[in-house]
Amino acid sequence: MESLKSLEDLLELMDIDMKIDSLLDTRGSLPELDSYKDAHSDVERIGSAIGAAKDAAGSAAKGLSKTNGELDIAAVKAAEEQNRLYAGGLSARDADYLRREVDMLYGKVSKMEDEVLEYMEAAESAEAQLVALDEERTIAEALKTNLGDSIRTQWQTIDKELEVKEDRKRTTIDLVDPYLIEMYDELRASREGRVVGRLSDDTCGSCHLRLSAAEVSQAQKQDPPRCIHCRSILVS
Ligand SMILES: [Zn+2]
Repeated sequence: MESLKSLEDLLELMDIDMKIDSLLDTRGSLPELDSYKDAHSDVERIGSAIGAAKDAAGSAAKGLSKTNGELDIAAVKAAEEQNRLYAGGLSARDADYLRREVDMLYGKVSKMEDEVLEYMEAAESAEAQLVALDEERTIAEALKTNLGDSIRTQWQTIDKELEVKEDRKRTTIDLVDPYLIEMYDELRASREGRVVGRLSDDTCGSCHLRLSAAEVSQAQKQDPPRCIHCRSILVS
């Protein structure tokens, strides 16, 4: 009788373990986990884009300041040379030379003015990008936080259930003969699914295959009884 009780407890242990497996599976495959990973990548990606936009804004500001400085100097120089030309008193050759110099200097000034405009446009575009990216990051971070909260809440519920099952498992293991536990553990390690089944209507509760009368008696001759089809431990 004691051995039968042990087998009943082993069947219960199997049920508890199946439930634990299913809880662990649920825990590891919450749909929110994939979404959380996506949201995390989004936050990372946006963070890098913000870094790049900040770099672009920084180099545009630096270029703008440098070119503005050079532009001021070139403009002053051009104006000075032009005044010198307008003042007159130069030989035709010197005047011609100075005119070309003034043209060249104003050409330089005009080129720098274009560059300044380009830097200003680049700075403006980087700033606009930063505003948009900041908004994007706020949304992505909020989504990530919500998903994280949802995962945590579900995990807490699952973990509480797991704790209850683990407690019951410990109590149940104590009720089963150690040699059965050893066999059970080996079977569990070698394959998935049920390894203990109730023999009901000559049908194995693990593989659901029917055993003939001869097979039932063959199965029951073993200690513990084993299904001749799937080798599960049978509880009658
Ligand atoms: Zn079977």
